[in-house]
Amino acid sequence: MLTKSQPDEIQSYLSDASYVRGGQADRVWFPETAAEVAQILAQATRKRTPVTVSGAGTGTVAGRVPFGGMVIATDNLNEIRSVVAETNGGSGIAEAGVRLIDFQSAVNAKGLLYPPDPTERSCFLGGNIATNASGARTFKYGPTRNYVRRLKIALTTGDVIDIARGELYAADRGIDLPLPSGGKIEAQLPSYDMPHVRKHASGYYIQPGMDLIDLFIGSEGTLGMIVEAELRLLPKPEGLLSGIVFFKDETSLLAFVRDARERSLLARSATARGTGASDLDARALEYFDNESLVFLRQKYDTVPEQASGAVFFEQETAESTEDELMSQWLSLLEAHQALADDSWFGTNEEDHAKLREFRHALPVLMNEWFGRHNQRKVSTDMAVPDHAFAEMLQFYQDNLRRSDLRYTIFGHIGDNHVHVNILPRNDTEAAKAWEIYHRFIHRAVEVGGTISAEHGIGKLKRDYLVELYGEAHIREMAALKKAFDPAGILGRGNIFSEDYL
Ligand SMILES: Cc1cc2nc3c(=O)[nH]c(=O)nc-3n(C[C@H](O)[C@H](O)[C@H](O)COP(=O)(O)OP(=O)(O)OC[C@H]3O[C@@H](n4cnc5c(N)ncnc54)[C@H](O)[C@@H]3O)c2cc1C
Repeated sequence: MLTKSQPDEIQSYLSDASYVRGGQADRVWFPETAAEVAQILAQATRKRTPVTVSGAGTGTVAGRVPFGGMVIATDNLNEIRSVVAETNGGSGIAEAGVRLIDFQSAVNAKGLLYPPDPTERSCFLGGNIATNASGARTFKYGPTRNYVRRLKIALTTGDVIDIARGELYAADRGIDLPLPSGGKIEAQLPSYDMPHVRKHASGYYIQPGMDLIDLFIGSEGTLGMIVEAELRLLPKPEGLLSGIVFFKDETSLLAFVRDARERSLLARSATARGTGASDLDARALEYFDNESLVFLRQKYDTVPEQASGAVFFEQETAESTEDELMSQWLSLLEAHQALADDSWFGTNEEDHAKLREFRHALPVLMNEWFGRHNQRKVSTDMAVPDHAFAEMLQFYQDNLRRSDLRYTIFGHIGDNHVHVNILPRNDTEAAKAWEIYHRFIHRAVEVGGTISAEHGIGKLKRDYLVELYGEAHIREMAALKKAFDPAGILGRGNIFSEDYL
């Protein structure tokens, strides 16, 4: 098995897109089979060596940044084993180190759709599952969790378990997981209620009587290492209409979003009831504030001068509905005074890719800023309940406008989940930015929101998780982790501090 330990060879495994500094490890392992992973984990347990699992390193919360011990990289677990069409969709089996973009191409080629689409598609499937990643299409399709049918997971006991959805459930809050080696893992699930929001990636996913596969999804490399996954696929829609729509004023933009969102949710529940839906149904609704457009103009000189905000939308179509849906979107734009003539629309793959690239360019520009100014990323990831979103957005804007810091607000507005990036130029500004950030966390918790909707907690947000759930529930999470990893070697410092172990 390949291993690397020279500083220049392992440097790229010591950081991620959080720009947290100081990562260190003695060695990086590159296993090629589940048995090899299990062997490394069993040995590390015996020697009490910390292990950090590495995906592609696109995470923004330092989850894969190691502080001592070894790294297990998933780069060589990179085979797509199968993509099979079934009635009404299909399924794909792939190893943890397969890049999302490669999996999506393979799925596309079979006329199928894998909905999870975190904006950065160079990430690995294992990283996506470990963080329960979501993205623009989550508005219609939900997060990665909804598509995981089966997981092969290596545990610190040296066991490899194969766990399929629908096979193993908790008995209320008690779990009893049989191991191939003959033993079993017995534990209690924590007793907290998760926030009632559309997206949530903060701490372990817990429901009484839950399917045990869900415990591993979003567990950020702390319970076991995902080696392989079987994923549910959907039929690919016949066509797609997408657009970047510009607005002169924010009030009109927000009213447009409210209407588009409401109509989409209604159309979806009509479809679910089988009463048919002929109304528009956005699969993505993404927001760009004025400051975001200021940044994007650096790369796109065609962003209209008079625009003070924009919305990116995607609408699935069929040949029979295409014209009707296009005219419904155009009427909605007109009703809300969008700058329709200056907006951009796409109806073919090439155009869709260009519009998605515009959406992707913004977080990349933000990351470049943090890198250039040598600062840790100050980026919020909170989602709030429907009733609280308008007030939360106003709260962000009021606080940021009162500061003299640069910032952007953008992202998944359909899910009441926008990212605020506060952009410090030096350490003094960073201190102010973190103070504002904490104010935002506090308010999100107050209104019943989650502190991380999609990026996870990693090592950066664990203090805020204490604010969300309280010490006693964090201790319950730590006890659960110890049932899976008694030596406390795996993903140390992710989700909660090592002190709880
Ligand atoms: C420009 C940009 C835009 C982004 N936009 C989005 C977005 O829209 N939505 C979103 O959800 N995220 C987004 N992200 C964050 C990131 O892409 C996701 O969190 C992604 O799922 C991480 O995958 P990765 O392979 O890079 O994982 P890594 O960063 O390598 O690891 C992430 C965590 O998962 C653990 N892990 C990785 N692989 C495994 C495994 N096989 N088994 C167990 N644990 C494992 C690691 O230990 C770590 O804790 C964005 C990031 C960037 C840079």
